[in-house]
Amino acid sequence: MAAGQPGGLDGSILRCRIAYLSMEIAIQPEMHTYAGGLGVLAGDTARTAADLDLPMVFLTLASHEGYLRQEIDDAGQQIDHPDPWTLADWATPLDAAVAVRIEGRPVWVRPWVHVLAGPGGHKVPILLLDTRLQVNDPADQMITDRLYGGDETMRLKQEMVLGIGGERLLAALGFAIETFHLNEGHAALLAAERLRRYPAGSVVQSSDCLRHDVEQVRSECVFTTHTPVEAGHDRFRYDTSMRLLGNFMELYELQLLAGTENLNMTRLALSLSGFVNGVARAHGATARRMFPGYRIRDITNGIHAGTWAHPAMARLFDEVAPGWRHAPEELVNADQLSDGRIWKAHQEAKAELIAYAAEKTGVLLRADLPLVGYARRMTGYKRLELIFSDLQRLRMIARDQPFQLVMAGKAHPRDTAGKELIRSLHENMRMLSPDLPAAFLGGYDMEVAKRFVSGADVWLNTPLPPLEASGTSGMKAALNGGLNLSVLDGWWAEAWVEGVTGWAITGDDPAGHADALYEKLSRTVLPLYFDNRERWIWMMKEALSKIGSRFNSQQMMRRYASEAYLR
Ligand SMILES: *Cc1c(COP(=O)(O)O)cnc(C)c1O
Repeated sequence: MAAGQPGGLDGSILRCRIAYLSMEIAIQPEMHTYAGGLGVLAGDTARTAADLDLPMVFLTLASHEGYLRQEIDDAGQQIDHPDPWTLADWATPLDAAVAVRIEGRPVWVRPWVHVLAGPGGHKVPILLLDTRLQVNDPADQMITDRLYGGDETMRLKQEMVLGIGGERLLAALGFAIETFHLNEGHAALLAAERLRRYPAGSVVQSSDCLRHDVEQVRSECVFTTHTPVEAGHDRFRYDTSMRLLGNFMELYELQLLAGTENLNMTRLALSLSGFVNGVARAHGATARRMFPGYRIRDITNGIHAGTWAHPAMARLFDEVAPGWRHAPEELVNADQLSDGRIWKAHQEAKAELIAYAAEKTGVLLRADLPLVGYARRMTGYKRLELIFSDLQRLRMIARDQPFQLVMAGKAHPRDTAGKELIRSLHENMRMLSPDLPAAFLGGYDMEVAKRFVSGADVWLNTPLPPLEASGTSGMKAALNGGLNLSVLDGWWAEAWVEGVTGWAITGDDPAGHADALYEKLSRTVLPLYFDNRERWIWMMKEALSKIGSRFNSQQMMRRYASEAYLR
C-alpha cells in the first residue's frame, strides 16, 4: 500500500473534511459513470461543492462499461448495449491501492482522480474506484465494469468496493475525513467499515450486544435515502453476504444493524448514521412512515442552475441576476425580464430541440404549437403511459387544440416491464399519428436532458403518489421557462401554485388522474397557450423566479452544510 504524494490531488487531501459516496455520479456526458437521477444529483452536488468552496471529496466506481447505451428498433423495442468510455481520457491514476477481501480473495482497488474546478479555482477531487488491475483475478477485474450490472452477487461486490474500498482508500491517501455522506444505501458498508475501527472498549453501548462503538460512527455518517419504492432498497441474503464478506463482521452484529432476515443496506445506513434525510418534504414524511423509530429529516433536492440553464436563458439571467451562478436565489428577479426576450430565448431552445428530434427520429415538430415533454426512467410507478389511457379522448383533444409530445427514457436491461412500456409507448404514438405528432428520443442522458428541459413548453410528470421521492427534471424545465403539469408528489408539492408556477393533476384516487390530466390539458393549459400568450409568459416568469430561486443545488448544499455536516 503506497500513498506517496499522488499527483492531481494537490492540497485538497489536507483540506477535504467531507467525503460523499455514490454508486453513480454524472460528471460529464462523456464519463459514463451514471444511470439517471441519482447520479445527476450527485454530479450537481459536486459542481456545487466546487462553486461554494466546500471541502469535499467524492467517490464513485470507474464503471468502464457505463450503464446502458439504448437503441430503439423499428418495433419500439429497446436494445441494450454496453456504453464504454475511456477512463484515462478523463482521469489520472493515483499511486495507491488498497485490498478488500471478497469471497476469500484480496481484490485490489486503485483510485483515479478527476478534478472538478469551480469558477473561483476551488478544486473538488472525484475518486473513481477501479478493480481492472492485472493482480486481480479476472472475475474480480470486472467488478467495476458495468454500473448496476450483473446479478445480486455482483451488486454486493460493487458495494463492497465502494464502501469498504472507499473508506480504506481515503485513509491510505491521507484524507482526514470528519463526515461521510452516504448517497443512498449502496455505500452503507462504509459505515460498517468505520464501525470496525472502533471497538466498544469501555464505552457504554446503546445496544450492549454490539462489540463496536455505534455512537462514534453515527457522529460521522450522514445518510440520504432516495426512494419510497421497496425494490429501490438493496437487500442481500445473509448466506450470499457472509460468503462474500467472510469474517468482515460477525453475523449477529450485522443482523442487529441491518435486519435479521436480509442484509438490508437501508437499515444498515439508518442504524449507523446520525443524520438521515429524505429528499423532499413529502418524501421525508413517507420515509418516517416506512422506517419508524428513526429520526428522518428532509432536505429537498435542487439542480445546479449553471449546468441546466440554456445559454440563451443564462444570458438573460446575467442581466437581471448577475450573481445567479453562485447565488441562484437572485433569480427571484427573473420576473423583471421583458416578455419579448424571455419568449425569444425559450423559442431558441425549442427550435434546437425540434431540430434534434428531426435529426434523430425524422419526426417533424412545429415551433408554433405547444410542445409537451416528459422523460423518465421507465419503471412502473412513474406511469409514463398515463397520458395514453384513453387514446380516443387524447386524439379528440389534439384535433381540437393541436399539440405535440417529446418523450425519452431508459429501462434497466433486466426490467422487462419497463421495456414493454417503451414498446407500447411507440405503439400508442403510431396509433395517434398524425393527430398527435410525437417523438421518442433514444439514449436519454445529460446532453439529451439539457435539450429536453430547455425546449419543452410544458413538462409533464405523472408518478403514482407517494412514490416519487423528489424528481428534478421539472425544476430544470422551470429554470428554462417551462411550465410543469404534474401530479402533486415529490418536489412539486412544495413548488406548485396553481395557475402561477404551473398546474397540478389532482385527485386522491390515482385512478382518476388520467381524467384530471385530460381535463387540465384541454380546458386550462392548451387554451391558455393559444388564447392568452401574455398570461402564459407571465407564468413562465413566475415559474422561473419562484422555482429557479429556490429549487437549486446551492440552496440544497447550504442546508446539507449547516444542518448535516456541521452537526
Ligand atoms: C435530471 C435528470 C434525471 C432526473 O429525472 P427525474 O425523472 O426528475 O427524477 C434523470 N436523468 C437525467 C439524464 C437527468 O438529466
